[in-house]
Amino acid sequence: MSSRRKFIKKLGITLPAITLLGVQAYEVKGASILAEKKKTTPIKPVVISTWKFGFSANEKAWETLEAGGKALDAVESGVQVPESDPNVSSVGFGGLPDRDGNVTLDSCIMDETGNAGSVAFLQGIKNPIRVARMVMEKTPHVMLVGKGAQDYAVAEGFEIEDLLTDKARTRWEEWKTDANYKPEINVEDHDTIGMIALDKHGNLSGACTTSGLAWKMHGRVGDSAIIGAALFVDNEIGAATATGKGEAVMKTVGAFLIVELMRQGKSPQEACELAVQRIIEKNPDSKNFQVGYLALNKEGQTGAYSIQKGFTYNVFDPNKKEQMQADHYYETDVRSY
Ligand code: ASP
Repeated sequence: MSSRRKFIKKLGITLPAITLLGVQAYEVKGASILAEKKKTTPIKPVVISTWKFGFSANEKAWETLEAGGKALDAVESGVQVPESDPNVSSVGFGGLPDRDGNVTLDSCIMDETGNAGSVAFLQGIKNPIRVARMVMEKTPHVMLVGKGAQDYAVAEGFEIEDLLTDKARTRWEEWKTDANYKPEINVEDHDTIGMIALDKHGNLSGACTTSGLAWKMHGRVGDSAIIGAALFVDNEIGAATATGKGEAVMKTVGAFLIVELMRQGKSPQEACELAVQRIIEKNPDSKNFQVGYLALNKEGQTGAYSIQKGFTYNVFDPNKKEQMQADHYYETDVRSY
């Protein structure tokens, strides 16, 4: 071995690093300082979620994050708050039914390893997000739907319950009197809880759950069950979630698009704006419906953007617990939330 090679070996530097030894040695040192800094800087947990009802969901998720728990546990417990609340008419128990009077639920969850689970068109189970997590952790599959998903939930010990509350039934009966049995998507008849979190260990996870569009066709599945559409997590980069007209989100694979834009160097805010822009370009009728996106990157920066005015979201970190209005594309006031 030449004396130069021996010298390099002694330094413990790999061969590809030898071209400009001085510079490389400096860079190796710089990288280790950076790594050291990363190790000693405490990671600030963050959780963000959609809509007003996400605030109490964030409060629940925050208990886990503050105690040093996992982002996955935080988002799973957080979204169960609106799922279980009969007064939230677009998520879980108390959700508005399809046009035939059935409450059908879509949920998905994704963890820091890139693992994912989902249930779609699930009936009679109050907390579909728990079933989605079991699909992720206990089965070799990503997605179960309909009766199969319900059978699986029952086998795991869930009870079948009637999810149609009196309040939701009354609204359905009122709708039926002049609705012409026609599914219609407007800014009034839906909303999903999407939640993404970064924990103190620096890991990202997300959850998304909904009863979908009110008065939809029986069997309709929306974006909230589709990994990549309403939810995507890449622990190297960031995470994103969606609410609004699921058909528009699915056709542009919204959450995946946002994460990929962040991978290309966009901030969470820029990525959300570009994903909304994509929907507007592809949908000449975008003035008539709402889509809202949230994003969170590995550094804990957040982004939010919607087509219409009125998309509220919640951000909790060690310095704030806030409900905010997202910036939006059209100025028209379609609805006051
Ligand atoms: N994205 C949901 C769906 O299409 C509804 C919503 O979030 O407003 O089912």
